[in-house]
Amino acid sequence: MDAIMDKNGVLTVISGFSGVGKGTLVKKLLEKYPDVYALSISATTRSPRPGEENGREYYFITKRSFKGLIRRGKLYEHAEYNGNFYGTPVEPVDRMRAEGKNVILEIEVQGGLQIKERFPDTFLLFVVPPDAKTLKARLTGRGTETSEQIRGRLRRAVEEAAVIPDYDDILVNGNLDESVEEMHRMISEGARSGADLRELSVKLEKDLKTLTEEDET
Ligand code: 5GP
Repeated sequence: MDAIMDKNGVLTVISGFSGVGKGTLVKKLLEKYPDVYALSISATTRSPRPGEENGREYYFITKRSFKGLIRRGKLYEHAEYNGNFYGTPVEPVDRMRAEGKNVILEIEVQGGLQIKERFPDTFLLFVVPPDAKTLKARLTGRGTETSEQIRGRLRRAVEEAAVIPDYDDILVNGNLDESVEEMHRMISEGARSGADLRELSVKLEKDLKTLTEEDET
C-alpha cells in the first residue's frame, strides 16, 4: 500500500492575478514536460468564451449540476468568482495522481487555500508580475476589456495580494521561457525563491491600490 501511495504525483496550485500570464506559463510547462505534469480541468457555471471547448478548457455545466457535484462530494474545492462557480473535480485528480503525474490546479486563492487544508503537502505557488505597472499594462494591452473592467480586475488583485503570505512561494513572471523552467524547478526539485512573501504582499497591495485609484480621479 505504501509503495503505491509513494508513487502518487504531487499536487501544485498555481494562482495569480488576472493578466499575469499564469495560463500561458502552465500551458508551456505541460507542453514541455507532458510525461511529468497533468492539468486538472475544472467545472464551471460560466459560459464558454469564443474558442473554448467543453472538456478542454473547462467542463461547462449548469448551476443545478454544479450544486449536485457539491452535494455528492465530487469536488475537492469550489469558489465563486465574478458571479460564476468554479470547482475541481475529484475523480480526474485522483486518477492522474495515481498515474504518478504531478497535477496542476490553476485556480483562484479561496480554492487554493481549501486544497491546502485538505492536502497539506500541496505546493501553493502564486505568480506575480515584475511590478504592479506591468500588470496594468498587460491588462490594458489585451484590448478586450473596458477601463471599468480593468479597474475591477485591479481591485480584485489588491485583495488577492493580501493572500500571498498564505502561499508557499511566488514566481515572478518576467521572461516566459525562464519562468517556465523556474516553475519546473520549484515543483519538481523543491527550489524556492527566497522572497519575503509578507513584504512583497504589502508592496504589491499598496502599488496596485495606487494604480486603481489613479484612474478613478
Ligand atoms: P476564468 O473565468 O477567467 O477562466 O477564470 C476565473 C478564475 O477562476 C481564475 O482565477 C481561475 O484560476 C479560477 N478558477 C478556474 N478553475 C477553478 C476551480 O476549479 N476552482 C477555483 N477555486 N478557481 C478556479
